[in-house]
Amino acid sequence: MIEKKRILLLGTGGTIACKKGKNGLVPLMMGEELLTYVPAAKKFCQVEAIQILNVDSTNMHPRHWQMIAGAIEEHYNYYDGFVVCHGTDTMAYTAAALSYLIQHSKKPVIITGAQRPIDLDVTDARTNLLDSLRFACCERAHGVNIVFDGKVIAGTRGKKVRSKSYNAFSSINFPYLAVIQDEHILFYIDDKGQDKENVRFYHELDDRVALLKLIPGLDSGVLDYLAEHFDAVVIESFGVGGLPAYEKNDFYHAIERWISLGKIVVMSTQVTQEGSNMSVYEVGRKVKHIFDMIESYDMTLEAAITKLMWVLGQTKEPEKVRRLFYQTINHDILWKEG
Ligand code: ASP
Repeated sequence: MIEKKRILLLGTGGTIACKKGKNGLVPLMMGEELLTYVPAAKKFCQVEAIQILNVDSTNMHPRHWQMIAGAIEEHYNYYDGFVVCHGTDTMAYTAAALSYLIQHSKKPVIITGAQRPIDLDVTDARTNLLDSLRFACCERAHGVNIVFDGKVIAGTRGKKVRSKSYNAFSSINFPYLAVIQDEHILFYIDDKGQDKENVRFYHELDDRVALLKLIPGLDSGVLDYLAEHFDAVVIESFGVGGLPAYEKNDFYHAIERWISLGKIVVMSTQVTQEGSNMSVYEVGRKVKHIFDMIESYDMTLEAAITKLMWVLGQTKEPEKVRRLFYQTINHDILWKEG
């Protein structure tokens, strides 16, 4: 008889675990209870559940990502795969963060959730959970992935693109890794075995990373304010990326001050698809040239931010930050400088 795979389910809350409360939906169900809604899973795996926390993912904090990664590290040798049940709102951040905190894993770490609670008659939760458990048992699955609405998305490439529909997640600037149709898993990217390094868990994150979304006419003083409180800022610029050059060139001076403090500025874009390329227009090329600025290219915003937190958890030295930031981890960046 073939031994069934051993899977650990980690409950963290989210809609999937919600019940109706006095003031709206609140996550109340524990992992054990979620499992009672997917009895079919018993046919192909042995699942145990632990509860890490039970929150709406709006309340997720980088320290919770560390708690989830820590729990996976603690149980890593005892299970064949891990399924994290999570709210959809900040799932893309958690999936990206786990991609940096848990690297080279030959065992799959799946993050899933749902747009509707699992105890409703009509819900996507049961399919998403069953698909995730199935994928976690798949020999060819590895690394950190989101499984949602029949798609498998690299942990660094997911983004919530719909607030209500079941097809809530897209894979940004990268193909789906696989699709799941009932019990069939079809791989588009089948690369297990290519990474020869051993699993490595990281523990440090620096959450002093800010995001500044540009709007026309924004006062650059906000960058000075941020410099007092943060080690890095991601500027969500327009189009392929650039900085406004209003009359007094205030933005240039603000960036100069950031750089002179040894702090990190990363240029990214408000446009979801296709990423940045600061070399195209004068408004970008000049800044890139003067400040040798890092840009996020085809990375998602969630990946850029959590990667910076991970990088800054290891070094604050600008050249090392640049090198680590551009290192490809879990398919997060294709475009390279030079
Ligand atoms: N507000 C919920 C959460 O992110 C939404 C969901 O899970 O779909 O926890």
